[in-house]
Amino acid sequence: MRKYLLSSDPNTEGIRRRRLGQFITITIVALLISSAHNVFFGNWRDAILLVSGAVLTLGAYGMAKRGHTQAASSTFTLSLLAVLAAIHWLSTGTHDPTLLAYPALMVFTGLLCAPWLFWLEFALIMLNITLLVIAEAQGWRIAKDALPGWPFWIDVTLIMVTVSMSIALIMRDFRHALASLRSENQRVRRSQKEVEFLASHDALTKLPNRLLARDRCEHALALARRAHKQTALLYIDLDNFKTINDSLGHAAGDQLLLTMSERLQTCVRESDTVARQGGDEFLIILECIPAPDIAADIAKQVIQRLAEPLALGPLNITATCSIGVAVAHDQQDDFDSLLQKADMAMYRAKGAGRNAFRIYDDSMNTKATEQLELASKMRVALIKSEFTLHYQPQFDLRSGQIIGAEALVRWRHPELGLVPPGKFIPVAENSGLIVEMGEWIVLEACRQAKCWLDEGLGELVVGINISPIQFRRGDVEQLINHALAQTGLPAHLLELELTESLLLEDSAHLKTILQNLRSLGISFSIDDFGTGYSNLSYLKHFEVERLKIDQSFIRRLSDDAHDEAIVRAIIQVADSLNLHLIAEGIEDTRTLTKLQELGCEQGQGFLWSPAITASEFKRYVLQHQASPSPAA
Ligand code: C2E
Ligand code: MG
Ligand code: MG
Repeated sequence: MRKYLLSSDPNTEGIRRRRLGQFITITIVALLISSAHNVFFGNWRDAILLVSGAVLTLGAYGMAKRGHTQAASSTFTLSLLAVLAAIHWLSTGTHDPTLLAYPALMVFTGLLCAPWLFWLEFALIMLNITLLVIAEAQGWRIAKDALPGWPFWIDVTLIMVTVSMSIALIMRDFRHALASLRSENQRVRRSQKEVEFLASHDALTKLPNRLLARDRCEHALALARRAHKQTALLYIDLDNFKTINDSLGHAAGDQLLLTMSERLQTCVRESDTVARQGGDEFLIILECIPAPDIAADIAKQVIQRLAEPLALGPLNITATCSIGVAVAHDQQDDFDSLLQKADMAMYRAKGAGRNAFRIYDDSMNTKATEQLELASKMRVALIKSEFTLHYQPQFDLRSGQIIGAEALVRWRHPELGLVPPGKFIPVAENSGLIVEMGEWIVLEACRQAKCWLDEGLGELVVGINISPIQFRRGDVEQLINHALAQTGLPAHLLELELTESLLLEDSAHLKTILQNLRSLGISFSIDDFGTGYSNLSYLKHFEVERLKIDQSFIRRLSDDAHDEAIVRAIIQVADSLNLHLIAEGIEDTRTLTKLQELGCEQGQGFLWSPAITASEFKRYVLQHQASPSPAA
């Protein structure tokens, strides 16, 4: 490839062979014409030399035809060199017009042959001319003057025509080469631009990616410092995007992301940046805002805009989002710190029930640090067995019988005292510790329930709260199988309390796990029913035995008509779906009576007992069995 100008590269080899053929043809024609005119002027010797040159050149042509391009090129140029040298020595020497053919010969050689041959020919030509000059100067050879007139004109014309035609062909090659070089160059530049674009933009939405967002944010921060203005970062996370993606497919998910990205762009000025952070997360960088309220206004606007209905295939859905807002206050704030703050605030918004925004304040950071500390204390607590299980009795409201117990975890920390589950369960869920903790809870609850069975307390069903995280990160099926096998508890005495949010995920994997567990004889209930989602379609897809009405509806049942209406509706749902129903948080007899009137069949609450230790529970059951009270 580097050896020849018209190289042996398959793409240009054809051109090289063609050009060689053309050069040879032009040269043979020129040689024959020249030989003819030499005959005409009676110069037989030159005519014979020229014809021999034509014959040699014809041989080169044959080689080229057979595909030996390299050999043909060398033969062609060397034959010409030989013929020219012979003519010079045998006729007019340094006065011969054919000297003009040397530059042309060098052009052919340069184009067609290897560099070493080019330089060899150059050396031979120079040697030839030098020897000629010396021979003529020394009188060893008598220089004849070149014949003036027509023979001279014909020789020069032939050389000029041959050289010009060859150069015209070469020029065409160069023009083509330049044109294709230009278009290749443009193509390379285009793809270079695309690569650069993709390195800084998201391929789906074409929005700036995190990398470019960082750049823009740093720039905005610098600008704001100079202009004494503020920069805000909004961290936007679509709520329940995974559910949409899983249930409607990835194409629908992509469509949703595209629409959301377009809507986001309509909420900000051109100078602001909307970027895709990844997955279902977007960022908005608000440049040079005069006051933090603007960021809050934009967040409100984004929530409204994104919540507009959207046609996704056959469905009309409403996608909501949770937003965390961080406003840069001091010189220290950079993209990373702002992002971390906005992320923290976004989680707050999610925790507050989603479809909301929260503005970061320093207390959030303190809280996050506290949670980290709590998580590390929980790790120690698991090793030191600081957790215990308490049990809250559950009653049949008609017969007054104890039908089972809900196992509720308790943590007695040596310094912090009794830490309520409402405080440590969310931390355990966020840190993933719930999986390990959950394993212990299941084993311990099953062991205790089997003990009570063996001690003659009767068939009491123990309910265990299972966090969605345990399904996502742990192997619940294997855990339950193991616990039942190890403790010998009959499966029908075990109930797993699931959350609505888990069932809303509607994944095939979850369905299989629940079916497998059900086939063992385990039952399921939905905890805190009524607080989660208005869409109850999951009740069609997952079989459960029991709904647990959330205590928030029970607490004010006797005084609040709305709560009564909700409880009535839940009772109807349970009736028509043939599900058992238990009310949580019954604290007084008025509420109990009301529930009995409405037709609720089971209950638990402080009216009877809070969650108590296993031994207290055993005493409680034995006492209750001896003198049943106060359900009826
Ligand atoms: P939950 O599963 O809805 O549990 C019922 C909660 O209501 C318990 O709070 C219980 O003590 C409380 N409660 C029962 N009767 C009454 C009443 O009459 N009045 C009032 N005000 N409260 C009543 P607890 O034990 O603090 O648990 C809170 C939440 O923590 C539980 O709500 C559950 O979601 C979670 N949790 C507790 N133990 C576990 C566990 O072992 N595993 C998991 N994953 N979560 C647990
Ligand atoms: Mg529960
Ligand atoms: Mg509950």
